[in-house]
Amino acid sequence: MNDSLYGKEVDCPVCSKKFNVTKVKSRACKVLKRDSDFCVHYEGINPILYDAWVCENCGYASQADKFLDITPREADRLKDNLMPRWKKRSLDGERDIDTAIEAFKLVLISYQFREAKSSDLARVCMRIAWLYRYKGDEEELKFIGFALKHYKDTYEKENFPVDKLDEYTCMYMIGELCFRTGSYEEAVKWFSRLISSEQARKKPTLIEAARDQYQLVKEKLK
Ligand SMILES: [Zn+2]
Repeated sequence: MNDSLYGKEVDCPVCSKKFNVTKVKSRACKVLKRDSDFCVHYEGINPILYDAWVCENCGYASQADKFLDITPREADRLKDNLMPRWKKRSLDGERDIDTAIEAFKLVLISYQFREAKSSDLARVCMRIAWLYRYKGDEEELKFIGFALKHYKDTYEKENFPVDKLDEYTCMYMIGELCFRTGSYEEAVKWFSRLISSEQARKKPTLIEAARDQYQLVKEKLK
């Protein structure tokens, strides 16, 4: 295995069996640049490729940081609905972009049987979009569209902060994804709402980014 990677044994909270996951040594990650929707491009190894864990025994998949975060009721649903259909298959070891996309799509499948929050769905769809972007694949836009819908649902239904996502970053993401999907008028609305918010001033870097994007959308509207 690549020496930036290492293995770890995990207990699956759905089938209770052990399986291996691959993790990236943090010092191996070198950031090259960050896109306006926070997609990070890395030099060499990309940790996003390893951020979806899949249990080879039952097919349960989740974002690594939330793998154990599942209720007994949700685990039962996965056992009843997903396990009978799953053919044992390991996504452990070094991954390419396609394997990572497959792993994240399995996370979406697991979410179908759970009470998944819109914010979690948004986060996963966003990562799938980024993975397609690394490949230069137009499928990216489809998943940007899904993420946009889920960020809007998050904004309407969830209480901020949701995990690490605060209200203002959520507004920014909605504006940015409207921009990327060509809904320029709507993007302007979200960016200006964010820029004019008193409370959002606590996040100067975000406001600055919103101002830059606001100018770019305005150009498009001319
Ligand atoms: Zn399992």
